[in-house]
Amino acid sequence: MKIPVFELKSQFRNIKKEIYPAVRETLKSGFYILDRHVTEFEEAFAGYCGAKYGVGVASGTDALILALRSLDIKKGDEVITTPFTFFATSEAIYGTGAKIIFADIDLGSYTIEPKEIEKKITRRTRALVCVHLYGQPCDMSDIKKLATRHKLKLIEDCAQASGAEYKNRKVGTFGAAGCFSFYPTKNLGGYGDGGMVITDAKETAASLRLLRAYGSRDRRRYLVHGYNSRLDELQAAILKIKLKYLDKWNTARRNRAAGYNKRLARLQEEGFLVTPKEQKDSRHVYHLYVLRAKKRDALRKFLLSNGISTAVHYPLPLHLQKVYKGLGHRLGDFPNTEIATSEILTLPLYPELTEDKIDFITRKIGRFYGK
Ligand SMILES: *Cc1c(COP(=O)(O)O)cnc(C)c1O
Repeated sequence: MKIPVFELKSQFRNIKKEIYPAVRETLKSGFYILDRHVTEFEEAFAGYCGAKYGVGVASGTDALILALRSLDIKKGDEVITTPFTFFATSEAIYGTGAKIIFADIDLGSYTIEPKEIEKKITRRTRALVCVHLYGQPCDMSDIKKLATRHKLKLIEDCAQASGAEYKNRKVGTFGAAGCFSFYPTKNLGGYGDGGMVITDAKETAASLRLLRAYGSRDRRRYLVHGYNSRLDELQAAILKIKLKYLDKWNTARRNRAAGYNKRLARLQEEGFLVTPKEQKDSRHVYHLYVLRAKKRDALRKFLLSNGISTAVHYPLPLHLQKVYKGLGHRLGDFPNTEIATSEILTLPLYPELTEDKIDFITRKIGRFYGK
């Protein structure tokens, strides 16, 4: 039996009867950029999240860059984020010219720790990018309080968390802007790149629309230096269909995560593993099922020799990346991030993953630990 970490083909097979006509119709329409599918999907997705406006862009990375720029983050500003995230989060901050400031995570949730944020606030701090990592919402009560008290722009990186909730409210609606990725492996993924920013502020939405289209409203007068960063019609037509299934798929992910947790409970009690834990007031959507494991690298090898692919998200924390040498960090600066990095392991998880595969994987893990 061969089990990949991600498997996208079964899902496509299940919905292709709806996808093919939509793709055909879009191709025949002659309208490929910023037309009705993008507008309809923006409204549908913003509505689903409970936000007033949605602005479709070319990727999750661009969603972050454009959101930060629409909130006037620029050179000379400091922006706080987590060192335990995908590189795109910090790359986006760099893209605005602002300085990246890292704050350590909480080991229970793997998301940024509000108390650590507080330690990093200076008179230059302008914004905070929190990341709902693996689909688990950050501690939004404390983060929101901090942002309000210190007048920081709060941007949520929801790339891994489409549909996740904190206190029954969808992520992406807690701060000034919520940024989403529709990269194919994400919980709501297209068949190519795509992203969106959601916001309740009319001016922010207007600024985002300007920035995604070269900084011009009419292609005559250029008001700012913008980008070419648009969600395209084909992806929007596809995503509009897939959005209808998001809740069902997220529920399937949650059930599979619970299935793993149940089968791995003994190994956790015996101290071999730490399985993921949904935090209080949160609805985790398990973009990834990530646990911490003793002898992680040997376990990975053993599983692979049994046909089971795993991954490490992410193998080197951002503060130790070569590109950030200039920030002057070293090993020991973010202890929780470093512990997580050395022990985390991503097991296969997708809505179509079958019970018998979860059985097979967890039995092999037990075998590895001699159980
Ligand atoms: C995927 C991802 C991004 C970037 O999204 P792209 O669409 O790939 O540009 C940003 N942040 C996080 C946490 C991600 O997982």
